[in-house]
Amino acid sequence: MNIEDFVRENVKNLKPYSSARDEFKGKADVFLDANESPFNTGLNRYPSPMQWALKNRLAEIKNILAEQVFLGNGSDEPIDLLFRVFCEPGKHEVIIPVPTYGMYKISAEINNVAYKEVFLTKNFQPNTSEILSSAGENTRILFLCSPNNPTGNLYEQEIIEDLLKKFKGIVVVDEAYVDFSDKPSWITRLGEFDNLVVLQTFSKAWGLAGIRLGMAFASKEIIGYMNKIKPPYNVNTLSQRIALEALNNSEQHDSWVTAILAQREILEGVLPTFPFVQEVYPTEANFILIRVNDARKLYNYLIAQGIVVRDRSSQPLCESTLRISVGTLEENVKLLESLKAFE
Ligand SMILES: *Cc1c(COP(=O)(O)O)cnc(C)c1O
Repeated sequence: MNIEDFVRENVKNLKPYSSARDEFKGKADVFLDANESPFNTGLNRYPSPMQWALKNRLAEIKNILAEQVFLGNGSDEPIDLLFRVFCEPGKHEVIIPVPTYGMYKISAEINNVAYKEVFLTKNFQPNTSEILSSAGENTRILFLCSPNNPTGNLYEQEIIEDLLKKFKGIVVVDEAYVDFSDKPSWITRLGEFDNLVVLQTFSKAWGLAGIRLGMAFASKEIIGYMNKIKPPYNVNTLSQRIALEALNNSEQHDSWVTAILAQREILEGVLPTFPFVQEVYPTEANFILIRVNDARKLYNYLIAQGIVVRDRSSQPLCESTLRISVGTLEENVKLLESLKAFE
């Protein structure tokens, strides 16, 4: 696939903003080039625009090149930039298998890009033939979320592989929850598929939703186009610093993941025993989707107990479901105690 053919003309042609720090790369100790304050607050200098320290560390961990890494203000930013690189507003369109994460659709709407929603199968897998027959000459991106939010399941490897080969456009695999799954990331397959973009985030397993740091991994070419149109200083100094510290303390991440998996297993064992629970869906994420007799009633009851879960009943194929994040031992005990008292 020739990626360049899918890139918007204006993106191909534009000359990106060149910041003071882009233009000077040597060594100096007097910086009078960016109208910053000279007084040391610890944060008086602009952040590293390309975040190379953090990207080099990620490249080492993921076994790819630093030029294959994009960092943004949450995953929201790479999602938005992919629309802006590949989709001409009012002309191109994208395909979103549903139910899934709501942000793809919102980002499409913000960018005035049409989207086609294609239902997942009853096992919550992408419907390959429906997806491929919905794609036309103006289709640019397919969003696959695996493990999928809100269903929790992983998409089958063969299905994703088939779509990567047959879909004529960019295939985004959003792996926000991959740390909780026992299958490898699609990052390991980047060399085989030049239309693949993998998204990951510091918001879930790393426990850093507050720093707003999302990652995209793809070919150097695709990442290059995203860099070309990003805001120059899109990741602030504190977020870069804290993410680097977290990567260098990965035992913490690993022990949190282990704890969540143990708690998930307990919830998966106990939840099916409640009479009002009709189904507990298989999950490879840090949440569980359950189908209950009366989702609204249970949701309101839990709120009254001081417990907030997510009612997903309005989503296609998710009638009368609640999505429950896996919490700490204490939180899960409180949840199960409350459920025991519900009739
Ligand atoms: C939570 C989540 C994200 C993370 O979004 P951030 O903007 O990085 O916090 C991305 N994709 C999916 C499917 C999610 O559920």
